[in-house]
Amino acid sequence: MKLRTLPLADSGIDRSDALRSDEVALKELWQSAKLIAFDGERFRVTVENEVPSLLLHSFIDLPSAQFESAYFLGIDSNNPGDHFFLTLTPTADSEGFIDETGRWFTLREMGAQLSPRDIALAAHALGLANWHSRHTHCPQCGAKTLSALGGSIRRCVKDKSDHYPRTDPAIITLVRDKDDRILLGRQKVWPEHRFSTFAGFVETGESFEQCIRRELFEEAGVEVTDIHYLGSQPWPFPASLMVAFEARITNPESARPDGTEIEEIRWFTRDSLKSEIDAGTLLLPPLISVARAMIEGWYHEGESNQDRPPLPGRETWRP
Ligand SMILES: [Zn+2]
Repeated sequence: MKLRTLPLADSGIDRSDALRSDEVALKELWQSAKLIAFDGERFRVTVENEVPSLLLHSFIDLPSAQFESAYFLGIDSNNPGDHFFLTLTPTADSEGFIDETGRWFTLREMGAQLSPRDIALAAHALGLANWHSRHTHCPQCGAKTLSALGGSIRRCVKDKSDHYPRTDPAIITLVRDKDDRILLGRQKVWPEHRFSTFAGFVETGESFEQCIRRELFEEAGVEVTDIHYLGSQPWPFPASLMVAFEARITNPESARPDGTEIEEIRWFTRDSLKSEIDAGTLLLPPLISVARAMIEGWYHEGESNQDRPPLPGRETWRP
């Protein structure tokens, strides 16, 4: 099975690692940088024909934008003259930003409508901002930390130790039985009718494969074999890296929900999936998610048309 290109994993942005440690060069870039305004949750965007794109500012437009507190995001590989920084804006309307051209949206709200470049910038920006806001103090000595190297690390003011953005690996697995049905689960916290593939965080000292076997046994009571890697996708809500696999269930008759995290599990054939979507009794995960791409990959497997349309059906985000 092949996944379509994953929105959050197709960047076109060169993170330019060498520039991060060259403060003189970074300051020079700042003079002509394109700044992305973020208020801690939402990005400032412009909307044309109902399609949003990130609104890009110069530092002159934004009184609160300071080089010292901005995070360097990288350079557009296709347009090397375009370089981007994230700047934190205390509140959405503190600078009179609410006007006819600029609106504020979360990455979830903009979803798959953003261009690949913008979605990659927004994902990097969101993940980085999440990490900075939660790591204001040194885990070794408790002193304050400050952003350094263009925002790519934080450094302790006391013991000078460096701290790197944290990413939490999580596995996500599409499981099938011998009749090529897939098993989807439903979490209690999800909107009604929403089902998805099984996912879970990798624990310390665990391999991806061990994690897959443990999670599927815990959540759905099944044992799996033939585990194959499909792809990966950053998921900055707040700091995950989703690592996608497919696997074959050896004991489909044992499938049952754990009753705590997963309240319901169901088998789907391609026909039943389509008819339930049409009937409104099944909602799929968001279009930009790897889970959606996995379900679509299975649904369209073996079809010759490379430009096949996505599965119909409304998407749902968890609240
Ligand atoms: Zn310290």
